[in-house]
Amino acid sequence: MRDRQPIVYIISAPSGSGKSTLVNVLLAMTPRLDFSISYTTRPVRGSEQNGKQYYFVSRQDFEQMIADDEFLEHASLYGRDYYGTARRFLREAEEKGHDLLLDIDVQGAAQIKQKLPDAVSIFVLPPDRKTLEWRLRKRGEDSDEVIDRRLDAARREIENYDKYDYILINDKLEESSDSLQAIVLSERLSRSKSSLSAGDQEIMELANRQRLANMRNRVLPILASFRTLPPSARC
Ligand code: ADP
Ligand code: 5GP
Repeated sequence: MRDRQPIVYIISAPSGSGKSTLVNVLLAMTPRLDFSISYTTRPVRGSEQNGKQYYFVSRQDFEQMIADDEFLEHASLYGRDYYGTARRFLREAEEKGHDLLLDIDVQGAAQIKQKLPDAVSIFVLPPDRKTLEWRLRKRGEDSDEVIDRRLDAARREIENYDKYDYILINDKLEESSDSLQAIVLSERLSRSKSSLSAGDQEIMELANRQRLANMRNRVLPILASFRTLPPSARC
């Protein structure tokens, strides 16, 4: 146990931006950071396992959990499937004295920010639309049609970037991983009562560069790359 509340970190991104890759690196490198495993009604994909990436439940069970107020937030995505963050993960993190990372969409992020205004939100962007398309193709999980749909969804999702505290442009993986870790550590440092070492100051500065106010100019060309190319354009 410790003397402060868990820090809740929210990370959102259009599919293919590299969010899962970044989250996996972050979790491996950061002590006392738990991942909230969401509940979903969508079918299992590829090598996913129940209880690892998600808890896969029926619609009926999900709706019962809503009725029992078991979710901190939940959303219906793509007009089809439910996704939700269970309250118990926050309770468990608090009991252990850990912080909590939520990988959720824009609607879920807005709900969490309303309930927990101190939550720290991070939006991951690809360097541009072409790179996103290339990454989706390289991942090799989706048909051309699904990729077109994801690119179209990405265009809409990224319009919400300015609702987030931090913006991470995932260009070079190592740099993005360092910046993501700096955000997490700097938020811990800013809530701690100890004085900051020179190394801590560097971490704070690196994180500060990723703040929304300092990233706006870098985001504009990315937004433009999504507006000018039609979804059917190929790499
Ligand atoms: P998401 O979770 O956002 O859908 P993934 O983490 O699955 O995205 O990444 C999509 C693809 O892009 C994967 O093949 C991954 O290895 C690759 N990738 C992720 N980050 C980078 C990066 N910075 N540079 C190049 N490729 C990347
Ligand atoms: P996928 O089906 O590709 O795994 O995820 C689709 C989207 O659902 C992603 O944007 C992911 O962040 C989001 N998501 C995953 N879990 C939750 C959750 O518990 N709540 C909300 N609101 N979104 C979630």
